[in-house]
Amino acid sequence: MDTKEMVIQLVFTIVCCIATWTIAHLYYQRSKTVTPEWAKPLVEHFPEQEPTPEKLAQLFQEYLDVGDVEINPLLHRVVCPDCGESAKNFKKAGFGDDSHSIVTISCPNCGWSETVDVS
Ligand SMILES: [Zn+2]
Repeated sequence: MDTKEMVIQLVFTIVCCIATWTIAHLYYQRSKTVTPEWAKPLVEHFPEQEPTPEKLAQLFQEYLDVGDVEINPLLHRVVCPDCGESAKNFKKAGFGDDSHSIVTISCPNCGWSETVDVS
């Protein structure tokens, strides 16, 4: 191996090192999450741990009591399965006679609907 070859190898090694470091550094910079000032109150509001089913049920009951949530009595849903629209806004259309009737409940937002037999 002559001197020229050695120099080329050395330069190549240095260039590779710089490239690797640069890529790693860029990825590190990108993955660093810094909470912006405006988002801090929101982030601090998040619960530290995942709420338990009991806590969720309790919160749900609270929202039910204040009327923010309504359970659709026929579908037992609180929101549209497709778009999340509140069940309070569901539209209801029914037809039938005294012994048998069919009710179609639809979402005014996305058009999702479900037909229920309420005989
Ligand atoms: Zn919908």
